[in-house]
Amino acid sequence: MRLFAGLRRMALSKVLVIGAGGVGSVAVHKMAMNPGIFSEIHLASRTKAKCDAIAESVKARTGVDIATYSLDAEEISELVKLIEKIGPKLVVNLALPYQDLAIMEGCLRTGVDYLDTANYEPRDEARFEYKWQWALHDRFKEKGLMALLGSGFDPGVTSVFAMWLKKHRLKTIRTLDILDCNGGDHGQAFATNFNPEINIREVTAPARHWEDGAFVETPAMSVKQEFDFAAVGPKNMYLMYHEELESLAKFIPEMQRARFWMTFGDEYIKHLTVLQNVGMTRIDPVIYEGHEIIPLHFLKAVLPEPASLGPTTKGKTNIGDIATGEALDGSGEKTFYIRNICDHEEAYAETGNQAVSYTTGVPAMIGAAMMLTGAWRGEGVFNMEEFDPDPFMDMLNEHGLPWTVEELGGPLDF
Ligand code: NDP
Repeated sequence: MRLFAGLRRMALSKVLVIGAGGVGSVAVHKMAMNPGIFSEIHLASRTKAKCDAIAESVKARTGVDIATYSLDAEEISELVKLIEKIGPKLVVNLALPYQDLAIMEGCLRTGVDYLDTANYEPRDEARFEYKWQWALHDRFKEKGLMALLGSGFDPGVTSVFAMWLKKHRLKTIRTLDILDCNGGDHGQAFATNFNPEINIREVTAPARHWEDGAFVETPAMSVKQEFDFAAVGPKNMYLMYHEELESLAKFIPEMQRARFWMTFGDEYIKHLTVLQNVGMTRIDPVIYEGHEIIPLHFLKAVLPEPASLGPTTKGKTNIGDIATGEALDGSGEKTFYIRNICDHEEAYAETGNQAVSYTTGVPAMIGAAMMLTGAWRGEGVFNMEEFDPDPFMDMLNEHGLPWTVEELGGPLDF
């Protein structure tokens, strides 16, 4: 009987990770470092050689063996065959947002739980919306399955931070600002720290923030603010749309205003402006020498691979939430700043990936651990805001992303 229960537990912690980029690499390394939760790790991606390179690094660093596969996750029948062959308890989608719906469909057909770090995007339009994935709620629920959306840093930890503040410091949140600063220097004239296509689609889309019950749109990169980031120093940050604003507005309905800010250096802005002006960031097809090409795909092919930036990137990331609202202890309106600071070189030393991949891959591992251990459980499609933040926050402290919370003198003055 005891042996049977043990075997069942082992089977429950078998996981299939899809996507062998920087985020997938970090998540798989961190899973291998936690064999008590992840008893068996399988890694599939479009290019098997990338899975093999990760498996080799994981073996060298942790002694754990990982099985690898070649897979185009958009071929649902192939995906279903692989899931049936492996029989995982959970599929962790760390490929690109375009694959989200196909992988969710594969999970529904095979009866397996699902997790990702970025919401679905249609290829022909840079729209960041949960509606396509939320629409699958009833199908997941009927099958008794769980899908957890957006378990990276932002989205992901930024929502858990907000819910922690709501549980432990503030009765209500009136205003919320998410500040994402990458103070890292990779020594290249222009490169992106995660998938260039996804990154450039995100920053060239119009900015949107939540105010008085609706989204307010402003032109991309048109609202700029200087902010002095701990461990980094003063940086220009820009108002942007980011997908967690949609789920935060839904789950913290009293919020009057929610904004997302990201820092960009002057060199990055200069290059991006030129690329945009000459049409290189377009996502509609153009004819080149008789073939259709998407300019942004071509640009991705000539830019440095984010994974190649790891060895040269120095500096820190500093990502957090500033929330103002009515204090839980009845002492009036208070403002709190909760954040994590992550060092690029330390992240690279631990997993062979820089801090942008690290700060996403670690929360993906933690979200998976929440599901596999049953700390977070539900039937249907869920966002991070819907669960108790405490066990997730504990694991951030234990697994490389420690956080701090401090009270500020008052709300932001911008
Ligand atoms: P990468 O581009 O480095 O890696 C993506 C991987 O997915 C690549 O290995 C790629 O294969 C693989 N892939 C692409 N298409 C398919 C497919 N059809 N089938 C199977 N595999 C496929 O991206 P990152 O690692 O930087 O990012 C991974 C995800 O994390 C993205 O969705 C990104 O948006 C998200 N992210 C989330 C963040 C957050 O904080 N929430 C922050 C940063 C990223 P190949 O190598 O062959 O191209």
